[in-house]
Amino acid sequence: MEELHSCIICNERRKEGIFILYSFICSTCESAIVHTSVEDQAYAEYIRKMRQITLQMDA
Ligand SMILES: [Zn+2]
Repeated sequence: MEELHSCIICNERRKEGIFILYSFICSTCESAIVHTSVEDQAYAEYIRKMRQITLQMDA
């Protein structure tokens, strides 16, 4: 039985990916972040989502 994790970026359940703190980011979104420039709006969106998760963890 494969263990799947819900990606915090795309909400897809995937096996391949990384954990940042306790948040799972699938390999697809991870590469998207890596290849997105800081100026890109998408990058800000990723950071915003990750901060939301972090805030939830602290609550
Ligand atoms: Zn994803």
